[in-house]
Parts: sequence; structure tokens; C-alpha cells
Amino acid sequence: HELMESPWGSAAPAAPACSLSEVMSEQLAKQLDEENAVFPALSDPAAELLLADEAPDTASDLMLAQMLQMQFDREFDDQLRREEKKFNGDSKVSISFENYRMVHPYDDSDSSEDEVDWQDTRHDPYRADKPQTTPRKGFTGKGKNITTKHDEVTCGRKNTARMDNFAPEVHVGDGLGMDLKLSNQVFNSLKRHCYSEQRRSARLHEKKEHSTAEQAVDPRTRLLMYKMVNAGVLENINGCISTGKESVVFHADGGSLEEQPVPDEVVLKVFKTTLNEFKNRDRYIKDDYRFKDRFSKLNPRKIIRLWAEKEMHNLGRMKKAEIPCPEVVLLKKHILVMSFIGKDHIPAPKLKDAMLNSEDLKNAYYQVLHMMQQLYQECNLVHADLSEYNMLWHEGKVWLIDVSQSVEPTHPHGLEFLFRDCRNVSTFFQKRGVSEAMSTYDLFNAVTGLNIPVGTEDEAEFMAEQLESRGRNEDHIQKRGKKTFPVTSEDGGPPLEPDADD
Ligand code: ADP
Ligand code: MG
Repeated sequence: HELMESPWGSAAPAAPACSLSEVMSEQLAKQLDEENAVFPALSDPAAELLLADEAPDTASDLMLAQMLQMQFDREFDDQLRREEKKFNGDSKVSISFENYRMVHPYDDSDSSEDEVDWQDTRHDPYRADKPQTTPRKGFTGKGKNITTKHDEVTCGRKNTARMDNFAPEVHVGDGLGMDLKLSNQVFNSLKRHCYSEQRRSARLHEKKEHSTAEQAVDPRTRLLMYKMVNAGVLENINGCISTGKESVVFHADGGSLEEQPVPDEVVLKVFKTTLNEFKNRDRYIKDDYRFKDRFSKLNPRKIIRLWAEKEMHNLGRMKKAEIPCPEVVLLKKHILVMSFIGKDHIPAPKLKDAMLNSEDLKNAYYQVLHMMQQLYQECNLVHADLSEYNMLWHEGKVWLIDVSQSVEPTHPHGLEFLFRDCRNVSTFFQKRGVSEAMSTYDLFNAVTGLNIPVGTEDEAEFMAEQLESRGRNEDHIQKRGKKTFPVTSEDGGPPLEPDADD
């Protein structure tokens, strides 16, 4: 207490090590005071070290000071991490002390105006994984590890020379030209720091140079992707599977997320942030009541994210109904990470490209029929872009993909979209010679259970019936306990063609 009365307000031994840290730790101490015991003094190890090493290594004061600073900072961070853990305990909502950390020069370069907003139901993986990227080991056993007892001077010089091997971006000063003796302890911690920084940096830069991701996405997206690698969610981003009008799809090796393993192979579906392509798709989302309120308030970049979010939600419903489809790993802004349908980097073929014998084709047809029914009746969804382009053939099964535009049947254009889906499916299978394939109309009825009479093969008449039946459709949905929503604005955009994105 005597010390605290000093105008400098800090414990005496800490003062030479780091004044900024002092300030930080004081703030933190205050903050933690209510929760825990007083924040433990951080200054001791550094001070100890200072005393222990001062004698042999005084050749460059500045350098020493910097190294000590670094060591001090790391010590601080370790302590902070322990405090954070203690503070958060098992609480579901955790407070991150990240911003108080001293050693974290390797990220935080974006985030700025649009903060990181994980929409995964699990915790923020970056936060969780960060401790792994910084060596968590402190500097235990101080003094014990010093192996220099026999010849501190020679050893110190050798260490100084070895510093030359550090990566070029590590500024080692001009200690090499001086007769600087570096203790093993300082050298080792410096080396450890350099190694971890190097590994981190290599991980990032490797990807930058080798990935085809480079060309296909904007810098902001690239950064998000690297962050996923850096956080360990992905091991590696390998290359582009598909470049469509609205999205770019990459193959990547999965890492782990919050201790849960990510599938070995995943895809990143990056929704394109060039807006033109999306204009004609507005109606899929604008009139989707689930997104309606939010739509009008959003800027274009956020609207793109809605697409990704929509796909995630739709895939979730499909998974519940056990429809074969990619499993969502996580959503980050406009990037959706999901399981890869395929094997050993080779994506499953689209139904249009799959080499199927007539038996397989017939199977596939019945699977598609069943899936459409499940989608409509269990998931309360209409795919709205269903065709042989958006179905994959994998392990003897048809897998449904590309559901960002899928809507609920009560969507003002829901049945229209469904009718188009039915036409695509019927046409495809009939062309491939599946004699069991129903007509568009029969398929439509089979999927909806609406039983619109098909007296004529006249599409206009059928569509009229269909519109009339919309009321019935809503009753139908209500009977199954689903909510209905007022149907309002109409917009008469042209129907989309099946997406020929390759
Ligand atoms: P788009 O809206 O651009 O058509 P898709 O979701 O259809 O986006 O993806 C484009 C292509 O990428 C697909 O046709 C398919 O070949 C491939 N693809 C997409 N998702 C996966 C996945 N989970 N596994 C394997 N391939 C996929
Ligand atoms: Mg597609």
C-alpha cells in the first residue's frame, strides 16, 4: 500500500518493463475486481527475468528492452487467457478479452464496419481457436532451462548470431554487428515467437499464392476465407469447383470447429457480391415473408448475405426431413461452408452429366419424386430452381443442392415456381426414356396433393386453375398447422430458365 501511494501508482518492480501494460492491466484489474480476486501482478516474471539476465546481456539496452517487452506481453496474454477462461466459466455467453491482448499482430485487419457476425448456432470459432495459434505455454521453469551455466558468454554470442536465421520480417536490429550476448532464455522465447508467427504467416501466404481463389473473389471475401483457414475451421482451400452467375464454389479440406470435427471435404459457396446478377432474383427473397421485413432495410451487401442465410435455413429444413443434401458447417457473411458431395476432391456429377443406366435412371426418378414431396410437405418448401443442374448423383442417390432461392409454397410465386420445377423434372426424365415419369401436371398434383383436374394438356388453363387453388393451398397448409401469411406485392419478372451455369 505504501507503493500505491507513489505518484506513479504502480508496483515498483514493474515500472521498467512496460508502462502501457501496466495501464492495461490496471484497467483490467478494475474490471475483474468484482468477479475475482485482485488481478495477479503480472510484473513479477518480467522483473525476475530482468534481474536474472541483466548482467550478461547488457550490450544493447534497446534490444533487450524490446525482447523483454515481447516476453512481458506474452506473459500478459497468457494470464489474460486464464482470466478470460475463469471469467466465462461454463457460461453460454462469453466475454472476449481479445482486445486487451498484447501479442496479436496477425489479424483484425478487416472487421471494421461490418463486424464479425457468425450465424452458426455454435460459438465464434475464431475466438475459440485463437489460443491454439498462439503458443499457450508460458515461460515456466524459468532459470531451470538455462543451459548456459558452463559458458554464458560464448553461448550468448552464438545465440545472437543465430538470430540471423529468423524470418526476414523479424526485425532483429543490428545486434549482429555488436558484441551482443543473448541468453538462451531470451533467445528461446524469441525463437518460439518467431516460429509461431512464421507458421501463421506461412499458412496464410501459401494460400494466397497458390489458391485459384485469388481471381474469383474480391479481397474482402479472400480475407474471410483466409481467416477460416487461420482459425483452423479449414485446413486448406484447394480450388474452384464452379463459377456461376450468382456464386463461386470452392473445395476445401475441413479442419475443426469448436472441438467438433468439420467434414474432411467441404465446399465454400461464396455468393457473389456483384449485385447485377441478383437483381432478377429479388422476388425470391423480397416476397419471402421470412425475410420481408429485413429486406427493405438492407443495403445490397447485406442482401447478398441473406441469400447465404436463406440457403442455410433451407438446408437445415431439408436435413430434418432427411433429404440427401449438403450439411451446413457454418455461415460467415456471404460464405456458406457445407459438406462436399463427392469424394477425393472430385465433385459428384450433376444429374445431367451422370452416366446412368436405365435402372439407375428409374431409381433416380422415384427419388426425385419423393424428395419433391418431402420438400413440399415436410419442409414446406418449393425448390424453385430444380433441374438436372441442381441435383447431384452420389453413392447411388440423388442429392439436392442450390436452395438459396427456395421459397415456401405460400410465396406469391410459389406454385408457379413449383410448376416450373415439375416441368424441368418431367422433361428431363422423359427425355432420358424413363417411361414411369409423370407429366408435369401429374407430378405437380403428386407433389402438392392438390389434385387440380387435368382435363386438358393446356398449360394456361392449368395455371389458371392453379392460381385459383392458391386459396385452397393455403387452407391446406393451415390444416397442417403451418402459419399463413398475407400475400401482397406481385412482381412480374420473367421466369428463370434452368440454370445453365457451366
Ligand atoms: P449456383 O447458384 O451458382 O448454381 P450451386 O449451389 O448450384 O450454385 O453450385 C454450383 C455448382 O457447384 C454445382 O452445380 C455443383 O457442381 C457444385 N457444388 C455446389 N455445392 C456442392 C457440394 N456441396 N458438393 C459438391 N459440389 C457442389
Ligand atoms: Mg446451381
